[in-house]
Amino acid sequence: MRLRNVPGAREVMIENEFVFTEPENMAGTWKEVFGNNNPVRIEIGMGKGRFITTLAQMNPDINYIGIEKYSSVLLRAVEKQDELRLSNLRFIRMDAENIGDVFAKGEVDRIYLNFSDPWPKDRHAKRRLTSRQFLERYTDILKDDGYVEFKTDNRGLFDFSVEEVKESPKWELTIVTYDLHNDTDLVEGNVMTEYEEKFSSQGNPICKLIARLK
Ligand code: SAM
Repeated sequence: MRLRNVPGAREVMIENEFVFTEPENMAGTWKEVFGNNNPVRIEIGMGKGRFITTLAQMNPDINYIGIEKYSSVLLRAVEKQDELRLSNLRFIRMDAENIGDVFAKGEVDRIYLNFSDPWPKDRHAKRRLTSRQFLERYTDILKDDGYVEFKTDNRGLFDFSVEEVKESPKWELTIVTYDLHNDTDLVEGNVMTEYEEKFSSQGNPICKLIARLK
């Protein structure tokens, strides 16, 4: 993704009440942050945040945390949340590589990955958010029957992701579709992301998988 640097975005993140920019010691504290025991669901690589903000509006009894590496991208979601002030939505600006420092084992109920960066070069495979290295990190934070939902229009990344789940002994695939929007069983309740809207309007089929901890 081409990134437009927005001057001042970093400072906004540091001062904003809904954003955590130094989350390294927050494992085990999310019940206190939200002030309740509701399930916590996270989106990694949330971009401008339409997906997670929509889910938070639809489901007030579930807590949502959007994770994004770049302040300039996160800014749009933060501005929206400044208006909406949803009590069940927070953001973390971080590289998800260190996600194990941010959540305790079992603290996360579900992980959403939407249109994750493909990192097409083989030598960068471990940076893909569905690589076995990332799946291993997710086992450290998900609850026992927790799962990962992943959507993309990138068939190469999707095929890689299916194989990574199959190769990871702690995981099983429960759903795989290569055309979500034409799958009548799965499309109901689908919340579109910014990228999903863009790529599906160009005629690209959207793939989705769900991988569950065994
Ligand atoms: N999920 C959004 C959507 O579907 O519209 C945005 C998709 S965009 C292609 C991928 C986003 O993931 C970018 O905003 C990028 O900065 C973020 N990202 C990529 N790797 C990340 C990582 N390791 N940790 C946190 N965010 C990451």
